Amino acid sequence: MGCACEAVHGFPCQFLDETEFHAFDGREWCLFHLPLEDAEGNKSPKDSWERSVPDWQRFRNVVFDSLRHPQDKSPNRWIEHRISDLRAVVFPHRFGFGLLHDTILYPDFSYATFGVSTIFSTLKFGDWAMFLEAKFAEEARFSGTSFGNWAWFAGARFGEDAWFRNAHFNDSAQFESVFFEGLASFSEAIFDGNASFGKATFGSVTSFEKATFGGNATFTGAAFGDKASFMNANFGRLAAFEAGGADERRGLFRGIDFQQAEFHGPVNFENRRFTSATSFEQAVFHDIAQFHGCTFHQDMSFHQTDFLKKKGKNDGETAKLERAYRTLKLAMENLRARNEEARFFALEMECHRQLGDVPRLERAFASLYKQVSEYGQSISRPLVYLFVSLGAFALLYWITGMLTNPWLLLVQGQFLYDLAILTLEQLVKPFSVWTRSSSSAQLSLVKSNPLLVPIFASFQSAFNLSLIAVFLLALRRRFKMD
Ligand SMILES: [Zn+2]
Repeated sequence: MGCACEAVHGFPCQFLDETEFHAFDGREWCLFHLPLEDAEGNKSPKDSWERSVPDWQRFRNVVFDSLRHPQDKSPNRWIEHRISDLRAVVFPHRFGFGLLHDTILYPDFSYATFGVSTIFSTLKFGDWAMFLEAKFAEEARFSGTSFGNWAWFAGARFGEDAWFRNAHFNDSAQFESVFFEGLASFSEAIFDGNASFGKATFGSVTSFEKATFGGNATFTGAAFGDKASFMNANFGRLAAFEAGGADERRGLFRGIDFQQAEFHGPVNFENRRFTSATSFEQAVFHDIAQFHGCTFHQDMSFHQTDFLKKKGKNDGETAKLERAYRTLKLAMENLRARNEEARFFALEMECHRQLGDVPRLERAFASLYKQVSEYGQSISRPLVYLFVSLGAFALLYWITGMLTNPWLLLVQGQFLYDLAILTLEQLVKPFSVWTRSSSSAQLSLVKSNPLLVPIFASFQSAFNLSLIAVFLLALRRRFKMD
């Protein structure tokens, strides 16, 4: 006679002092490993335990005693590793742990099963809170719970809503391959270390609103439901959201929201398929944002999104940034999103301009293009430069006149009029100063400086023509329909 724990779970039952066993599902079980139901859904007596039942009380006393007195399992005296071995224990429904609010818990709940509504809210866990492959039948509450250096939930299964609102993970939070059937709320949760949700499966609603990730946040291959929000979330380091693998369902993003999220480290969305509205409105990317291989949706918004990184530590990194912006530019081009396309083109050009192997002349023109029109994004800036240049060249002609023929000013009113003619004619009839019949050529200022003034005037004509060209390009880009 003994508990079926070893046969079922592969390790000996930790409740060796038990003498009473319960027959269920063709096996004998100790009070703690006795399941709630069998594979066919037939209920065991534990399923209907009330708090007044002596078994319930004995169960609770033993479990609480174990949690209050964790055993030191350290392999050596340098590492503290205390543990309350509650592996594979099956908890009755509505089992609360609230009475343990004054204790730091060091549980190993691996393979444990929790009944309907389990509450760990506001409790405090020490290092190594183990919930490996644990099963939560329905609601599980960890709101405001504090975890020590490691919180392991890998492979756990949440049958309904899981509340981790305001939870604080002091270091690593391991949620790989975890399964959420219903709502998963990590709103305002704080992850001080790495948080791994790789290959996790989320239910219909997921919230990481205002969550703070101090370390790497990994969601590689995670499958999301219809609504997932990372609004106002703060990613301190890497944010990995790539599809990771060929599984169609895992590559999908059905409705995901990153409004006002802040990404301090590199971001990776490679090979994801955005199949409905996705918002990055007012999000801030401090580092590279990689969207290579993604499928974009028409209702994808980058409105007022800031991409701050324009230069890497070396040429390799800068070229990588350039490619990342090019991918976004091409995506926006395919969606005919002209303004966004222009923005990503400008970012791509800005990265390219800073590459070490770009010829100097090309860089100089790129710098000029950036200065006068933000790489074709600004319509007003070339016009402002045009008006400023008119004043600047008029001043240049005035100085030239003053230095070469000071008596010109004595011709009352005539000199200022001449300056206006000379400056404006270069705008409407470029290079006409070289034609003898033009008005400019007749001016006494030009006659007294037959080489110098025409050379300046030619520069003005060339500069004005470039600004007009840049202005028309920007205008066409903005209003082009195709
Ligand atoms: Zn047992």
